[in-house]
Amino acid sequence: MNKLFGTDGVRGVVNEFFTPIFAAKLGQAIGSFFGENSRIIVGRDVRVGGLFIKNAVIAGLLSSGVKVYDCDLAPTPAIQYVTRDDGFDGAVIITASHNPPQYNGVKVIDSDGIEISRDKERIIEEIFTEERFNRIQWNRLHESIYEYRVVNDKYVKAVVEKVDKELIKNRGFKIVVDPANSVSVLTTPRIARELGVKVYTINGDLDPYFSGREPEPTVESLSKTTTIVTSLKADLGVAHDGDGDRAIFIDDKGRILWGDRSACILAKYLLEKHPDSPRRVYTAVSSSTIIEEYLREYGVEVVWLKVGSVDIARAMKEKGDALCGFEENGGFMYPKHQFVRDGGMTLALMLELLASWRKKLSELYDDLPRMFSVKTKIPMGRDKAVKVIEVLREKYCNYRQVNIDGVKIIGDDYWFLVRPSGTEPLLRVMIEARSEDRLRKILDEILDIVRGI
Ligand code: MG
Repeated sequence: MNKLFGTDGVRGVVNEFFTPIFAAKLGQAIGSFFGENSRIIVGRDVRVGGLFIKNAVIAGLLSSGVKVYDCDLAPTPAIQYVTRDDGFDGAVIITASHNPPQYNGVKVIDSDGIEISRDKERIIEEIFTEERFNRIQWNRLHESIYEYRVVNDKYVKAVVEKVDKELIKNRGFKIVVDPANSVSVLTTPRIARELGVKVYTINGDLDPYFSGREPEPTVESLSKTTTIVTSLKADLGVAHDGDGDRAIFIDDKGRILWGDRSACILAKYLLEKHPDSPRRVYTAVSSSTIIEEYLREYGVEVVWLKVGSVDIARAMKEKGDALCGFEENGGFMYPKHQFVRDGGMTLALMLELLASWRKKLSELYDDLPRMFSVKTKIPMGRDKAVKVIEVLREKYCNYRQVNIDGVKIIGDDYWFLVRPSGTEPLLRVMIEARSEDRLRKILDEILDIVRGI
């Protein structure tokens, strides 16, 4: 059986993989899964194909007797928030998140606002493959779609309510927002303005072709944004991905903070904001260990999980003891708001933190442990990748290891992660070390092992 769902929904190139027929069948499978008369929100990001995919998915849903609430353009976290808060049975979001512009996809959200579990994905895949669609008898079909265009308003209000508006307003912040020409155009500048912040938006029109920049925040795609932050002498810049669940910050000196860096600072602030909260932070093995170092004195325990935001969100909800969760790509999860990544909420928290501590983001960045890092990938089949990992496990058997997704070795002044890619024939290698020399040595050692195999 073809595996439909990847790490985060069903994705593919528009009109090659994602055809109208495919989307309608997927809608039928999703509708059959949720069942007749279930209430489902359907929304999308700005991507090309979004319009026909949404309409095809709705066709499938209606055919299976679902009540469809169409919110159209909205960031993923806004739809997730409203799904849970307004008591819907689920949501279908047409998005390919950070992928290149020619991609689109479908994410299925459960009634708790989190992406459905892997088990439920499997059930939908089975319905799809075996074409066990629930085709409703003609006289039970719903003949209207409910327009539900209140999602962005409700979301903005919910985010703004969770921070101290007066405190932020009194600081007179000036920020640059880069929503990547997609749906956070509709929410993030509003959140900031409602908090009394002066906002300059770049890539601020809705553009399905992403001509402003690639939907993924990277050093290359943010090069103009960083320059604008410094030339406007802004307090910070924030850049989202295509569906607005990631927030990557740029400090007042124009430096990019990756998600594990900003998460250190945010987690420390949350300890202060919620002193009674459990001291547990959830993240994937691909995040830096500096979070442990930075928060050690506060007794914070870091729970390492395999790579994938859904697994982090589900683990946090299940255990119920998380201060926060995050991914190094800029996905930050604040459970008091919702368990999933939320770019707008992350910005609001960062503004409150800066207002409360009366510090510049660059000062906070400079306080973080300094590490040299390298991220690389080596083309290699899964069998060989597994062998490389076995050799490393053996070689570093006297060191602290996390064996959840490949192998992560944690030494005194370095850490590294070697894991097979989930989607491509690649070995992914991430190393961080206190000195360049140490970094080089570890990389050479891994490359030697690769050559030996
Ligand atoms: Mg995303």
